[in-house]
Amino acid sequence: MFSGKSEELIRRVKRALIARQRVRVFKPRLDTRYHESQVVSHDGERVEAIPVASAQEMEAYLSPRPEVVAVDEVQFLDRGLLPLVERLAQEGVRVILAGLDLDFRGEPFGLMPELLARAEFVEKLTAICPRCGAPATRTQRLVNGRPARYSDPVILVGAQEHYEPRCRACHQVAY
Ligand SMILES: [Zn+2]
Repeated sequence: MFSGKSEELIRRVKRALIARQRVRVFKPRLDTRYHESQVVSHDGERVEAIPVASAQEMEAYLSPRPEVVAVDEVQFLDRGLLPLVERLAQEGVRVILAGLDLDFRGEPFGLMPELLARAEFVEKLTAICPRCGAPATRTQRLVNGRPARYSDPVILVGAQEHYEPRCRACHQVAY
């Protein structure tokens, strides 16, 4: 969050489009913060994206095969994404995935560890910690201005809460 993941995904997708490659962009359907059928970055860049509820739903949009498949916020997708992206990569499709590696507790997020391990190339982006200015690798979750509790569910899209980047030292979890 705030580290420029969507900006980077959009940058790569736009380069592929300039190169006249066939590109399919997906996003989890639960992520409707900005726009239903676009990936939108914090600085206002955008590309069209197909909202999907599952990896299985993605398959319907993948024949004929595109040359590039990009997925934003992959941490919210199901484990069916793993065999799907393996198969795509095996067939020579370029797969670009963006997601949060850690949840608000500072623990690996969903299927991200396995995707990171299987990827040929990984780029870890960081935001800036607003408290101390250090590179921020964590997501601070605040509920009513206070650090969220460890036992709070990870996914509460649209709830009354606030997220901000934090470094390891400034990241807080309530128990
Ligand atoms: Zn800090």
